[in-house]
Amino acid sequence: MSDLPYFVLDPTAHQEDTASKIVFSLERLSHLFRIHWWEQNKETDLSPLQMQILIALRFQPQLHAVSTIARYLELTEATVSDAVRVLNQKAYLEKRPSPEDARRHILSLTPTGTQMAERLALFANQIQAFVETLPHQGTVLESLLLLMASLQQNGFIPLQQMCTTCRHFQRVANGSQPYYCRLLDQPLAIHNLRVHCPEHEAEATG
Ligand code: SF4
Repeated sequence: MSDLPYFVLDPTAHQEDTASKIVFSLERLSHLFRIHWWEQNKETDLSPLQMQILIALRFQPQLHAVSTIARYLELTEATVSDAVRVLNQKAYLEKRPSPEDARRHILSLTPTGTQMAERLALFANQIQAFVETLPHQGTVLESLLLLMASLQQNGFIPLQQMCTTCRHFQRVANGSQPYYCRLLDQPLAIHNLRVHCPEHEAEATG
């Protein structure tokens, strides 16, 4: 037997190990958006972070402060603040003082910023078209949400407002509707699972 350590990122070592092949695939998939953002950088002169901020503000306008965007993207406020300053200079977003605290700003997209955010976001629609051709999409979604919950609980990814990390989420023994939302008081079929729910409440820790 070899004493060499086993590396999941060594594709020649996987043999029958499905988990290793999934992790290897995730590593390859992790390049998908990164490569696209850098391609767009040549055309837009925006950094990938600036693009992510535009998209976040377009589709989640409630993240309208440097601090909330920083938490959402798991970055420091200083890093986000720099990117916001550039976006403001380029007239993609506006800053106005918060009514509660004049030292803080509320961020919102200008029409040009909205247009740019939507243009950038269309890339995800292209990817969706490929995903739609997959068999067993429900199983894929369920597995991804369970994996994300596990990674989040162990500190690898930021908080995501999804069913699998919600205190109202419950597994029940029912083949077609295996989950239940205690808040909405209704069963959840797999296609009902939410990746971003406004009613989400994080599970208590400790
Ligand atoms: S409140 Fe929302 S996130 Fe929580 S279990 Fe219900 S549907 Fe899912």
